[in-house]
Amino acid sequence: MSPSRTDPPAKRLRVVVVGAGLGGLAAAIAISRTGLAEVQVLEAASKLGELGAGIQVSPNCSRLLIRWGVDKYLADNVVLPRYGRVIRWQNGEVLAQAPMMPQIQEKYGFPHWHVHRADLHEALRKKVEELKIPIKVNAKVIGADVDDASITLHTGEKINCDFIVGSDGLRSSMREVVLKGEEAAPPFVTGDYAYRFTVPTEDMAGDPVLADCVKTPMAIGWWGPGMHVVGYKLRNETMFNVVTVFPDDGTMDNTYKMEGEIEHLKELYKDWCPQVKALLDRARPGTVTKWKLMDLPPLQRWHRGKLVLIGDACHPMLPYQAQGASQAIEDAAALAQCLRLLPLRDVGPVFQQLRYSRATQIQKFAREQRGKNHMLDGPEQEARDAAMKDASTAARSAYAWTWAAEDGEPPKPWNEGLFGYDAEEEALRRIRKLGYSVDDE
Ligand SMILES: Cc1cc2nc3c(=O)[nH]c(=O)nc-3n(C[C@H](O)[C@H](O)[C@H](O)COP(=O)(O)OP(=O)(O)OC[C@H]3O[C@@H](n4cnc5c(N)ncnc54)[C@H](O)[C@@H]3O)c2cc1C
Repeated sequence: MSPSRTDPPAKRLRVVVVGAGLGGLAAAIAISRTGLAEVQVLEAASKLGELGAGIQVSPNCSRLLIRWGVDKYLADNVVLPRYGRVIRWQNGEVLAQAPMMPQIQEKYGFPHWHVHRADLHEALRKKVEELKIPIKVNAKVIGADVDDASITLHTGEKINCDFIVGSDGLRSSMREVVLKGEEAAPPFVTGDYAYRFTVPTEDMAGDPVLADCVKTPMAIGWWGPGMHVVGYKLRNETMFNVVTVFPDDGTMDNTYKMEGEIEHLKELYKDWCPQVKALLDRARPGTVTKWKLMDLPPLQRWHRGKLVLIGDACHPMLPYQAQGASQAIEDAAALAQCLRLLPLRDVGPVFQQLRYSRATQIQKFAREQRGKNHMLDGPEQEARDAAMKDASTAARSAYAWTWAAEDGEPPKPWNEGLFGYDAEEEALRRIRKLGYSVDDE
């Protein structure tokens, strides 16, 4: 996109991005690409890096990463899933199998990737470096003045700028500044924990029970009462990512992440099908992490003065729709267009207007998907399974939602609304509709 912003004329905005997670780095890239701003990123941690393992990047996000030239740094690390498969927990019965790639690419013009979070983070970091955007680590932000756009670090250092992006995640300090304590409600527990670990695929290929999981790249979900397991290949198919979600057992009251207990993991799934048990048998000590899945009540506002929140800071996504990072990256794209085209005072309100309904809708469906994955065995589950097994309607039955109409648009099937979305184009369309001038007309 070529620069067009004329307010203030010929002056480059100074934008500070708080938090160098996936959303913060994406925001730095998208804003810097407008050519109208000097961006600096502040990160509390002493070194950059991402924890966790796999992440699903759907075409609504890959289209942005490709447009921004981040994909070249992902190189061979992405995996293209051939199918999405759902399996019944108890007997290994395949309930549904839907094609993913290349069909997704053919339909939406962009791929669906499975990628290691560390690889995606590193690719974004390399792009940030290419754009010569400075990242300051050991820079914990403890306060911000939203009127004069200044930041205070834990060292007492003050940094002045023109605009602040709060991308400091679920436990955001910038959210407290936006909410000013009035409407602030802390993140709450969802009732679910997750174990995450990876297994070398070559080990699985030689195991007759597990070989099928790694023969063809696919996203596999084993669905059972109150729990589920997800698995897919990463890193040029060398690694199999496993996430198991299960009910809160009260062992994480004072933390949200800790080392996982393998015996507990196996005990939880001891009645599941041989494939799941064989997979969990491959978990190695020191490689399993246990996570508390947290949520946040809907916020009334995502902005105040010259500060805007993006990503998990304002709309954390439960993992059931695999959209948290993708939505943070969509936010980054939309915010860059707001900064490029709007007077600064309008950036926050218009950004929230552009993004609120979509992010809230996806949050809602992620919460609802939990119920679909975790149905207790009984008539409702039998009806779900029968619908999923019906090949003619499998995909529709499994995801039988529509994408609610916005702006007078007709409703669309859920996947179309989710995957077919271009956050940059949509921001331009809506900004134009609000009566602002958009240069590429
Ligand atoms: C089990 C699980 C599976 C998931 N799977 C997927 C998936 O498949 N696809 C998907 O799209 N999403 C997935 N997600 C969600 C996704 O990981 C998050 O939504 C996404 O990483 C949020 O990015 P963010 O940049 O907003 O926040 P974060 O990644 O949390 O980054 C925040 C950054 O801010 C820094 N920070 C915090 N406080 C301060 C401060 N005061 N000063 C300076 N820096 C600060 C932090 O150190 C961190 O680097 C999953 C999540 C979980 C738990």
